[in-house]
Formats: sequence, structure tokens, C-alpha cells
Amino acid sequence: MTGPLAATAHRPRRRGDLATLEGYHSPQVEVAVRLNTNESPFPPPVAWTEALAVAMAGIEWQRYPDRRAVALRQAIAELHGVTADQVYAANGSNEVIQALCLAYGGTERCAAVFEPTYRLHSHIPSITGTRVAVGQRAADLSLDLAEVRRVVELSSPTLTFLCSPNNPTGMIEEPDAVAALLDLVEGIVVIDEAYGQFSPWSALELVDDERPVVVTRTLSKTWSMAAARLGYLIGPSWLVADLDSVTLPYHLDAVKQVAGRLALAYEAEMQARVEAVVAERRRLVAGLGDLAVQQWPSHANFVLFRPLRLAGADVWQALVERGVLVRDCSAWPGLEGCLRVTVGTPEENAAFVAALAEALDA
Ligand code: PMP
Repeated sequence: MTGPLAATAHRPRRRGDLATLEGYHSPQVEVAVRLNTNESPFPPPVAWTEALAVAMAGIEWQRYPDRRAVALRQAIAELHGVTADQVYAANGSNEVIQALCLAYGGTERCAAVFEPTYRLHSHIPSITGTRVAVGQRAADLSLDLAEVRRVVELSSPTLTFLCSPNNPTGMIEEPDAVAALLDLVEGIVVIDEAYGQFSPWSALELVDDERPVVVTRTLSKTWSMAAARLGYLIGPSWLVADLDSVTLPYHLDAVKQVAGRLALAYEAEMQARVEAVVAERRRLVAGLGDLAVQQWPSHANFVLFRPLRLAGADVWQALVERGVLVRDCSAWPGLEGCLRVTVGTPEENAAFVAALAEALDA
């Protein structure tokens, strides 16, 4: 054979265990109102932007950055009252999860998830060759401890993922349920708190050097820094050392390290943004309450809802046609017909509620 056909015939295939795996993506449609990825509707403080510009002028561009990101880790440690060796930082909390899977997953190992939950908690184990044991949540979408027991006894996971507040339901894991799960599970328990600032409690209080519990956080949401790609984990120092051992050299660039470190000085401003989003969420929830939808109680910056009389996918399309993008969860197991909307600015939320009212009427 000659020509392009011959070249294709010799193309190597992906790993066998990835044969049916699809890439993860959330559709990015160019519309005026984008409420599909749970970002903050507000930019970071202007003072931070100015401080970053000054700091960037001092970067030694010809040099590799600090490999251990010491100043950044120290700043995160101070924020949470832990030691710097209990902090691991990476390019977004997704990459933190990838490091956990590289260190503790892989062939012969298994990660447990309880659906419906954040889809990357099963996707990232899969791409690292880690088997995924899937348990189901109760009908009200809370954690079902009998199901946790069943999955743990059957699969002995080395990693068990929880998400609180849970994406896409917006519900928190109750402290009692997490404590009971810790008694059942032998491996590492990962509590993803990407939306932790909206929760009445944090699993950070469970982290110490004895217990295999870690909490992941991100600067992508309430810190208004999704563009920077920075996330981190608080956990036992021995676990952080394990993660360091599977991390590529200089994985955090100099700009990100300084951007993250400076951002943490604006915690009060971040907290004010959380309060503004919660106030807006109340208005959004009230707006949804007037329409023919079922909705779930949210402790996050998004709300899960299900149109009562129309198919979720049709409503999603009708919203796009009206210039509003939300997340279509309608085909996800356990979330039949559901959509998820991020709390945006007052104008964006008003546009969403008006477009939804029209879509449901159509
Ligand atoms: N965890 C959860 C629950 C999320 O919703 C997201 C973002 N969609 C992430 C982690 C990933 O965040 P990051 O931008 O830090 O990778």
C-alpha cells in the first residue's frame, strides 16, 4: 500500500483499556449568557491584578520556577492553619486528582464513586488505568451508607471520592455520613470541596497526619481565577510526599505560583463574593420556584433542576436558542431530564429565568 491509506493502517492505537473512553468536555457555545461551568460571575479584585503586574516584572524568565512552590504552599498552609508539608498544589484540582490516581491507582487498583457526582471522579481514574467501582446514591441523592458498605466490601477501593457540595446536585455530604464512611473505608478518602466556601462545614477539620483523608480545593470558583488553573489538596504529609514523587518537575509555572500566592491575601473579598452569590442564588431559586420545574436544595453556586413537562435536552436547546447556556445533565445516570445552572450576575440570572419561562411555555 502507498499513500495516506498506508500511513493510517500503521497508526498505533490507544491503550486497550481506553478503547471506549470518550474525552471529557462541556460544550462551549458562543452565547451571551454562559451559566454552564460554575465559574464566579465576578472578576478578582483590581488590587490583585495590579499586585500581579508588579510581581510579574520581577520574574526571572530565564530560570525554571521554584520546583516545590514553597511560597505558594506556605501561603495556602497559613490560610488553613496547617503546615506547608500538608499542602500539594497543581494545575487545577483536576490535576490534583490525577496525581492521587497516579500515586495510588493504576492496574489492580480501584477508585469508588457514588453517582450522580462530579464526572471527572471516574474519568480521571479511567485515564490512569484505575478501575472504577460505581455505587449509587439514595433516591434523594444523599449518600447511601448501605451502598457504601456494599461497594467497599466488593471492591476494596484504594481511593474513595466524595464531593461536598456535590456537583451537579449542589447538596453537601452530612458530617455524620462522612464519619460513618470513614469507618467503612480502608483506603484514602478524597473529599472534593471545589465549592467548599458555600458549605456550612468543611472536612478540613478531619485532616491530620494519622488519617488517610484529603480535601481538595480550587482557585477556579470562589477565588475567581479559573483562567489561572490552580488547585490544591490538604492532607497528611506522607501522602503529600507520595504525590510529589509522581509530579513532573516544575509543573507549576512562575506566574501561577505568584498569582495564587497573592490571591490568598484577598480572602475577605473572596468571602464577600461568596455572600453576593448566595444572595443571588436565593433570587434564582425563587425564580425557579415560580416555574414548572423540580429543583434540589443548593449549597453551591449552581442549582440542579428538572423541567416537569418537557424533556431536559429540548429545554437546553430552547435556552441556547435564546442565548443562554446551561449544563445538560439530562442523559447522566440518575439525573434523567435534569439541567444545571450556574448562579451568574443579576442580569444573567434574570435573562436565564426569562428564557426558561419562555422555553417552558413554548
Ligand atoms: N471538582 C469539582 C467538583 C468541580 O466541579 C470542578 C470544576 N468543574 C473541579 C473539581 C475542577 O476544578 P479545577 O478548575 O480546579 O480543575
